[in-house]
Amino acid sequence: MTMEYDHIIIGAGCAGLSLLMRIMDNDPGYTKKILLIDKSKKDTNDRTWCFWEKDSGYFEPVVYKQWDHLIFRNKDLSKTLDTGAYQYKMIRAVDFYNYCFDRINKAPNIEIVYSAVEEIRFKNGWYTIQTAAKTMEVKAGFLFSAVYRGFPKTKSTFSLLQHFKGWLIETDIPCFDPGQAVFMDFSVPQQWGTVFMYVLPLSPDKALIEYTVFSASALLPEQYDDAIRNYITAQLKVSDFRIAATEYGIIPMTSHRFPFYKDGVYYIGTAGGQTKASTGYTFQFIQKQSVQIAGALKKGITDLTGIQPARSRFRLYDSILLRVLSENKMTGEEIFSTLFKKIPAKKIFRFLDNETTLAEEFPILNAMPGGIFGIAAMKQIFS
Ligand SMILES: Cc1cc2nc3c(=O)[nH]c(=O)nc-3n(C[C@H](O)[C@H](O)[C@H](O)COP(=O)(O)OP(=O)(O)OC[C@H]3O[C@@H](n4cnc5c(N)ncnc54)[C@H](O)[C@@H]3O)c2cc1C
Repeated sequence: MTMEYDHIIIGAGCAGLSLLMRIMDNDPGYTKKILLIDKSKKDTNDRTWCFWEKDSGYFEPVVYKQWDHLIFRNKDLSKTLDTGAYQYKMIRAVDFYNYCFDRINKAPNIEIVYSAVEEIRFKNGWYTIQTAAKTMEVKAGFLFSAVYRGFPKTKSTFSLLQHFKGWLIETDIPCFDPGQAVFMDFSVPQQWGTVFMYVLPLSPDKALIEYTVFSASALLPEQYDDAIRNYITAQLKVSDFRIAATEYGIIPMTSHRFPFYKDGVYYIGTAGGQTKASTGYTFQFIQKQSVQIAGALKKGITDLTGIQPARSRFRLYDSILLRVLSENKMTGEEIFSTLFKKIPAKKIFRFLDNETTLAEEFPILNAMPGGIFGIAAMKQIFS
């Protein structure tokens, strides 16, 4: 099989489809020939994405629920956050996939192959893509891949896993206020590292309860389940409920620098370093990167390597936080509690979006204990 494409996108998940949608926006006449490859069809609700956003976003038509009232909790505090214009939004993956594929299926020049990519070789503009089913010899202007392959562990890399399990529960009687969500509840036992709950009510009788841990390794399945059950009964005081669906995930949090470009392949999404190392939030970084890439393609730029994954200052902040957590100098509960106690959430959100200026960052950095973070910063800079 020998073919020529303008773009090849491997991975029809969040990053691949977000980029493809923007490329299609810039090509209303469907002149671009595009090959989309994924190992499987995207027809299940394999995750939910939550993120904060001001105003209406690009994927607003598939926002399933949003909250403007967020609560932060720990053992001593329950605080309504000053989120300003930010809304905390939820998108169900299945709605996102359906929305994107409704459009993709109408585009005559997009070819879809379902097969796992095992290897990509690149020579003189030609790609040899080895999938589980066949070998493809293809020529393409650009090849983007969202296939995450992990990263090497080194002495200077600080890494944790963000692992979580969510239960979507239903009750017979109204138990939840769908107008407000618990953004982080640190009142749960902190025995594994940084441990908190999300409570995301979808209606008075339905909520997603998610147990989230930042630590070196994942827990046993029953440990997540026990923690969620305890929380629902002891904290939320809900004894009668059904589990309508579950969600499990692991997100890498690492100071490793994922290359954006290597051997003919542009890496996007988590594979391309779009996961914020200190929080695991990825959805909005993928959107920003998709806009940048599609914008560059529209301008006819042939070398995209000028597009940076994140500004170095923010990468440094992330790695300092990972170092402090990994070396157990301070707990995540202490760090996030200090931040949310002292700084309005709208400013923290902007900071975590890598959008603040140095002047805006000063009070945020100053809120952290100078000794611990100063030493960690020095070690990080000179390591
Ligand atoms: C359960 C879960 C919940 C999450 N929730 C949030 C959240 O609330 N907010 C947030 O900001 N981030 C969240 N994330 C992190 C991040 O946003 C998601 O992982 C997001 O889907 C990353 O997008 P991606 O395109 O990089 O990877 P994916 O969306 O996983 O897409 C990768 C695609 O590549 C395909 N693929 C994999 N291997 C191959 C192969 N060998 N050949 C061909 N295709 C292949 C997969 O089938 C998939 O379609 C969550 C992650 C998980 C796992």
